[in-house]
Amino acid sequence: MDLYEYQGKQYFARFGIPTSPGGVADTVDEAVEQADAAGYPVVVKAQVKVGGRGKAGGVKLADNADEVRLHAGNILGLDIKGHVVKRLWVEHASDIAKEYYASFTLDRPAKLHLGMLSAEGGVEIEEVAVTNPDAIAKLHVDPIVGLDEATALDWVKRAELDPAAQERAASLLVKLYRCYTEGDCDLAEINPLILTPEGKVHALDAKVTLDENATFRHPEWEEFGDDSEVDPREKMAKEKGLNYIGLSGTVGIIANGAGLAMSTLDVVTQVGGAAANFLDIGGGANADVMAAALEVINADPAVKAIFVNIFGGITRVDEVAKGIIEALSRVDLSSPVVMRLDGTNAEEGRALLASHLSDRLIAEPTMLDAAHRAVALAQA
Ligand code: GDP
Ligand code: MN
Repeated sequence: MDLYEYQGKQYFARFGIPTSPGGVADTVDEAVEQADAAGYPVVVKAQVKVGGRGKAGGVKLADNADEVRLHAGNILGLDIKGHVVKRLWVEHASDIAKEYYASFTLDRPAKLHLGMLSAEGGVEIEEVAVTNPDAIAKLHVDPIVGLDEATALDWVKRAELDPAAQERAASLLVKLYRCYTEGDCDLAEINPLILTPEGKVHALDAKVTLDENATFRHPEWEEFGDDSEVDPREKMAKEKGLNYIGLSGTVGIIANGAGLAMSTLDVVTQVGGAAANFLDIGGGANADVMAAALEVINADPAVKAIFVNIFGGITRVDEVAKGIIEALSRVDLSSPVVMRLDGTNAEEGRALLASHLSDRLIAEPTMLDAAHRAVALAQA
C-alpha cells in the first residue's frame, strides 16, 4: 500500500525522523488555516500517489495568506499524470542549503536490504542512476545484523554528503532503517532529504510503501486505508475476504489455490485469451465463498465468461459442486460459466452438477478444454 506524502511524514515522525510542521487541507480555506498555524513562508503541496509533483506545478511556495489562496486554488483539482488533486499538505517552508536522496528497499536477489544515498537529491533518482550512477552510494544491510551509527556514518561519507550534514544524516538514516524494517515498509524514500543553512537535516518529501503482508501486526494502518485510488473490484473482494487481484482481460477466473490460479491465468493466455482477474478461493470452497467469488466477478463489466478451475485435494469436489449449485441460485450471472472439476471426489461432483448443465453452465473434461471454451465464449 502506497502512502500519501503527508501519511509518510506522519509515519516517519513515529520513528523520530524530523519533518516540517504542517497539516492537511481539502479546501482553500483550510489551506489558509493550516498555513497560519504552520507559520509563513509555507509550501503548498498536492497529495497524489505519483512522483514529479514539483515539475507538474503541484508544489508551490507562499509568503502570505493571499498566495496560499492562489496556489491552493490552482492545485486543488489539478490533474497530475492522471491523478486529480483532492487534498493538500501545507507545511512551514524550509531554507535549503543542499538536497540529498535517501532510501531503503529490498534487494531480492541479494537477499539483503538495500540503502541508496546520494548527494545529488531533489531530482529524479532514476535520472541520476542513468547520467551519474557513481553519485549513488549503495549499502547492503543484513537484516540479522541491522544498521548502526558507525556504518551509517561511513556510508554518508562515501556518498560525500557535506561535512556539516554528516552526523545528523547518519543518525537520520538509522531511524529511516528502523522505520523501513520495524515499520514493515517495502520502500521508505526521502527525496529531497535536506541540509538547512543552520545545519539541520530533515525530510522534505516522503515516499512510503507499506508491505501489506504485515497488516496483521499493524492495526494502526487502518487509518491509511484510503479507497479513493483503489480498484473498486479489489475493494469489493477485500470486503468479502477474497484473495483477488484485478486484471484487464475478459475471462473471470476462480481457482482453488494460488498456484492453480496462476496456472489458470497462464492457460487462458496460452489459448489467446486474457484474464480479468486473479482469484484464489483457497481450500474448503463452500457455497458462501463461491457465491462471494461469483458476485465479485459478476460485478466486473469487462467479464464475458467465467472459468471455474477446481482441483480437489483436501477440498472435495462434491462439496465444491454443492457450493456452485447453491451460489448459482443466489447470484444472477451475466456471463456463462465454464467449469473444470478434477481431483478428490470429482466423479461425485460432476454427477451432482449433471442436471444443472446448460449453455450457461458448461463442464469441460480438462483445464485446457475449459480454457479454450471460456476464451471462445469471451470472444463471441
Ligand atoms: P515531488 O516533485 O513530487 O518529488 O515533490 P517534493 O516534495 O520533492 O518537492 C519538489 C521540490 O520542491 C523539492 O525538490 C524542493 O526543491 C521544492 N520544495 C519542497 N518543499 C520546499 C520547502 O520547504 N522549501 C523550499 N525552498 N523548496 C521546497
Ligand atoms: Mn520528491
